Amino acid sequence: MSAPDWDVIVIGAGPAGALAAHQLARCQLRVLLVEKRVFPRWKVCGSCLNGVALRALEEAGLGHLVGDLGAVPLGRIRLGLQGRQLELALPAGRSLSRGRLDLALCEAAVAAGAVLRSPCEATVARSHPGGRKVLLRSGTDVQTTSARVVLVATGLGSSGLSSPGLGRTGLGPDLPIEMRISPRARIGAGCELDAGVSGYDRGTIHMAIGRHGYVGLVRNETGALNLAAAFDRPHLIAAGGPASCAAAVLAAAGFDPLPEAAAATWRATPALTRRCKPLAAERVLLLGDAAGYVEPFTGEGMGWALMGALALVPLVLQGQREWHSDMEREWSRRHTRLIGSRQRFCHGLAFTLRRPGLSRGLLAAARRWPALTAPLLQHLDGASCQRITPEPCP
Ligand SMILES: Cc1cc2nc3c(=O)[nH]c(=O)nc-3n(C[C@H](O)[C@H](O)[C@H](O)COP(=O)(O)OP(=O)(O)OC[C@H]3O[C@@H](n4cnc5c(N)ncnc54)[C@H](O)[C@@H]3O)c2cc1C
Repeated sequence: MSAPDWDVIVIGAGPAGALAAHQLARCQLRVLLVEKRVFPRWKVCGSCLNGVALRALEEAGLGHLVGDLGAVPLGRIRLGLQGRQLELALPAGRSLSRGRLDLALCEAAVAAGAVLRSPCEATVARSHPGGRKVLLRSGTDVQTTSARVVLVATGLGSSGLSSPGLGRTGLGPDLPIEMRISPRARIGAGCELDAGVSGYDRGTIHMAIGRHGYVGLVRNETGALNLAAAFDRPHLIAAGGPASCAAAVLAAAGFDPLPEAAAATWRATPALTRRCKPLAAERVLLLGDAAGYVEPFTGEGMGWALMGALALVPLVLQGQREWHSDMEREWSRRHTRLIGSRQRFCHGLAFTLRRPGLSRGLLAAARRWPALTAPLLQHLDGASCQRITPEPCP
């Protein structure tokens, strides 16, 4: 029995994978971080870090990145629905382009000792005594390597792990993990507009809410205007694409039109709302969006991804000595405790936003009695959220 090549292989270098690689490399583990795209890369995302995400970066010793990279402080959120608007003061938040943030997190992981392989696509393969095999594909070159623990942080592109014969979930042949995509799942879409476009002031999140989806707009550190949206799939098809859907949502919300968006390059995501069960298999742990996602309205997927990365470190360290099936159940339990209540809140909001009468009533009530918005603002701040203090390395 040969020893595995690596202590940990992390598949996917988004916030979840890069932070996990950073934390584990700091503990002197031999970490291979595999990313299929070349960084810096643009990604469909609102690019807003909420209180939870900012605190997780601080806990990881990377809080300085936010200032170093010039992230824009977010002071306000403006909600627009059926021509009516409501502006609220935000308790916390920064906007920062994903190109810059993800590259910086990846560099921090490498500086801590992780080895980065990119561009390279990884596939989880069979377990073997003491480890789990992983296939690495760069162009036509395919290699097999192995690790004691494999972290799957592949975002919504988990199906990117599929290849013929690799099981129902596409995650691997002997991974008893089921991924369910909600039949009503919306599709994410986004683009970036030049800093020269007018309107939409810096430091404010603009959220236009329509019957078939919503569009979030925010200026990032370069002044560019980032658009990130979620639309019902049938509407997206009927409207002829994300640009026309977004134009209709902005108009209905009473926001300034953005003719530049019609000519922009839009990118779309796979279906958003999904859950995976369980969140682990022998020597494999899922984190970030790969472990499940709801909708982007509350702008907190990066917070979940970063918190998850901090929370699984103790289990990965334990898995270096030996692997017990209890650890798989423990990760599912920890993840639910940490992120489950936030995801339920998000499901509740998604339910409300799909009912125009209910949303309109709530907006009207919030305009009259602003105290009603307290739960939403507390949620965005996440101050009551469990703190994860990284454990000292053994
Ligand atoms: C429209 C929209 C708006 C959003 N707005 C916000 C927001 O404002 N704030 C917020 O916090 N969150 C937001 N989110 C959510 C946020 O983008 C995600 O939750 C976050 O990116 C999850 O991080 P992750 O590391 O799990 O996945 P990702 O960031 O998706 O990273 C996964 C990485 O894995 C790589 N990968 C995939 N498969 C493989 C493979 N087989 N081999 C190697 N590499 C692979 C991918 O290339 C990618 O780089 C938004 C999402 C959407 C769709």
